[in-house]
Amino acid sequence: MDEEDSVGANKCPVCGSDPRTHPGLRFKINTKCYHRICEGCVDRHFSSGKAECPVGGCHVSLWKREWRTQTFEDLKIEREVEIRRRVTKILDRREEEFETKRDYDDFLELREELVMNLVFRTDVAATNRKLKEYAQANGIKTDPTDGPEPGAKAPRRKDMAPDAADQSGLIKGLKRIVIPEAKAPYDPFMGMPRTREYYEVKESYITRVRGKPAEAMLAGGYDFAQYMDESLLRAFAGLGVFIEDEMSARDNTAIPVPGPT
Ligand SMILES: [Zn+2]
Ligand SMILES: [Zn+2]
Repeated sequence: MDEEDSVGANKCPVCGSDPRTHPGLRFKINTKCYHRICEGCVDRHFSSGKAECPVGGCHVSLWKREWRTQTFEDLKIEREVEIRRRVTKILDRREEEFETKRDYDDFLELREELVMNLVFRTDVAATNRKLKEYAQANGIKTDPTDGPEPGAKAPRRKDMAPDAADQSGLIKGLKRIVIPEAKAPYDPFMGMPRTREYYEVKESYITRVRGKPAEAMLAGGYDFAQYMDESLLRAFAGLGVFIEDEMSARDNTAIPVPGPT
């Protein structure tokens, strides 16, 4: 990266194109070696699949999709943001997942330490190993371009024991995952009895309307007994009206009920 700060900082290190002589020349970077080359060179070198970074002496192999537009002027910031994004994606825990605030703070500190290790290139191998172990133990899919060896199947989160908050042991103080007990299936009647205890459809109702035009009743697609049943249900369901009880209560009462006799 340092040679780019010297003369010809803006030239493409591969083809030598200079934005001063090629207006509209655009550059792309990748997040593996952070070399910066022009779009034309990306197209030329990576159109037919995986290839080595064309910058002299660099043998990092890359896909075309790994080249992207530079967001920040300073490549150091660009790199730090990218590292931060990658680590945060793996170490993705929310405060409510921890037993205490203190545990959460420890987690944030740990994450910052790992980010800084990668940014300043200290303990890179060990840091990457920790992240990889954590990602595998927790079923997190890392970047597919540097993912696990083909054939190795990472366990998915739901396949793991319910109390395995973090099997790799990197993160401490996580709450045990409690699987809520299975709830009873949703009952739209909210416990209301579905047996017809308030009424019964009597044969006499049906004989009463026999021979009368029943098209209006049949329009809904019910047969008559069902229609009657449904009408009575709608009339009485939820009211808790027991006509027979009320009638016997009325008949037993000493005070005569006003009204026609
Ligand atoms: Zn170029
Ligand atoms: Zn390179």
